[in-house]
Amino acid sequence: MHISARAQKMEPSATLAVTAKAKSLKREGKPVISFGAGEPDFDSPPSAIRYAEEAMKKGQTHYTPGTGIPELREEVCRYYKEHFGLEYTPGNVVVGSGAKPLIYEALGCLIDSGDEVLVFTPAWVSYVEQIRLFDGVPVLVDTSGTDFVPRIADVRKAVTPRTRAMIINTPNNPTGAVYDEECLRDLGRLAVEKNIVIIYDEIYERLVYGDAVHHQILNLVPEARDLTVIVNGVSKAFAMTGWRIGYALGPSSLMGYLGDMQGHITSNASSIAQWASVGALREAETDVVTMQKAFSGRRDLAVKLMKEMPYVSFTEPRGAFYVWFSIREALGKSWKGQPIRSDEEFCKVLLEAKYLAVVPGSAFMCPDNVRISYASSEEEIREGLGRLKEFLEELK
Ligand code: PMP
Ligand code: GLU
Repeated sequence: MHISARAQKMEPSATLAVTAKAKSLKREGKPVISFGAGEPDFDSPPSAIRYAEEAMKKGQTHYTPGTGIPELREEVCRYYKEHFGLEYTPGNVVVGSGAKPLIYEALGCLIDSGDEVLVFTPAWVSYVEQIRLFDGVPVLVDTSGTDFVPRIADVRKAVTPRTRAMIINTPNNPTGAVYDEECLRDLGRLAVEKNIVIIYDEIYERLVYGDAVHHQILNLVPEARDLTVIVNGVSKAFAMTGWRIGYALGPSSLMGYLGDMQGHITSNASSIAQWASVGALREAETDVVTMQKAFSGRRDLAVKLMKEMPYVSFTEPRGAFYVWFSIREALGKSWKGQPIRSDEEFCKVLLEAKYLAVVPGSAFMCPDNVRISYASSEEEIREGLGRLKEFLEELK
C-alpha cells in the first residue's frame, strides 16, 4: 500500500503516546503514576453531566449545525463579554470537537503549501505537525533564553513575506510561562504591521497562579481583532477533556471558511457534549474556581519538591499545569548501568525503573528537557516526585 509522504513524515503525539504506554502498564498491574498528558483528574462539573443527561432524554441526539448549536455559541459570546469585555456574536464562533481540530482547521484556512507559521518553542506537540499536514513550514523561535516569553527582536527576524500566522499560547504548554503585557502588545502590533494572523490559544486562561495575570491580546491590541482567531474550550478549566468540545472566535469571513472545512471533516461536535458544555458555561463557574485553587496548591507543592532534586533546573511555572525542567546535568550519567544520553532515554529509563511517566522535551522541539503535568492529586504528586528524586539520586 502506498502511504503518503505527508503521513510518513508525521510524528505521533508524544503526549498521547506516553499516556497510552502508562495506561497499558497499569493494565498489566504495574504501579504507574502518569505525569504524561495534561488532563485534570477532577470529575466534570455536575451541571455538565446534568445537561448531557437531559439532552439525551430530550432527543438532542442528532446532527447539529456544523458550527455548533446556537445555545452554546451564545454562551461562548456571553463568556467572552463577561470575562474579557469582548463583543462577539454567534456568527463569529465555531464549536469543534476540542480545541485541537479548530487549530488544525484554522491553519487549513490560512496556509497554502510553503507558507510559514511562527511557533514559539518549546511548543505544544501538535502545532508543528498540524502545520506540516497542510504542507506549511513551521518557523521556530526559541524562547529558552528569555524565561520562555518570546523576545520581539527574535520574532521580527523570523518574519518573511511568506509568514501567514503566528501561534501564541499563553498560559503556555509546556513551560507554564504567562506572557506579559509588553510581549503581547509587541506581538500584536507586529502582526498588524505585517498582516499576520494570530492564533491565540488561551485554553489555559483560567489557570494562572500567584501574581500572574492572563491577558487577552485583543484588550491590549484591539486593532488586531480582524486578524485574530481565539481558541479556547472546556477541556482544561472545566475538567472536560473527554467530551471533546472547543471553540474558536474570530472574524466572520474566516470563521465561515473554518465552519465549512469542519463540515467536511467532523460535520459537527457531539450534540450531547455541546449541551454538556452549555451546562458548564452556564453553571460551573464555582467548580472552575475551586479547581483553580486546587491547581495552585499543587503547583506550589510540585515546585517545592522539584527544588529539592539534584541535576534539574527550571523556571517556576506561573500558569497551566506543567513543570518544564532541564536535565542537561543528568545527561551522560547512567542508571544501574543504563546510559542516559538524551531526554528520550531519560524518560524511557525512568518509566521502566520507577513506573513514572513524563514527556521528553524533544516532543516540544527542545531536547535536554522534560515536562511533567501536575494535574494529579497531591498524594500522587508527592509519590511521583519522590520517585523522580530517587531516580536522580541513583544516577552515577
Ligand atoms: N492547546 C494546547 C496548548 C493544549 O495543551 C491542548 C491540549 N489538549 C489543546 C490546545 C487541545 O485541547 P482540546 O482537548 O480541547 O483539544
Ligand atoms: N494537551 C495535553 C498535553 O499536552 C493533552 C494531550 C494532547 O492533546 O496533546 O499533554
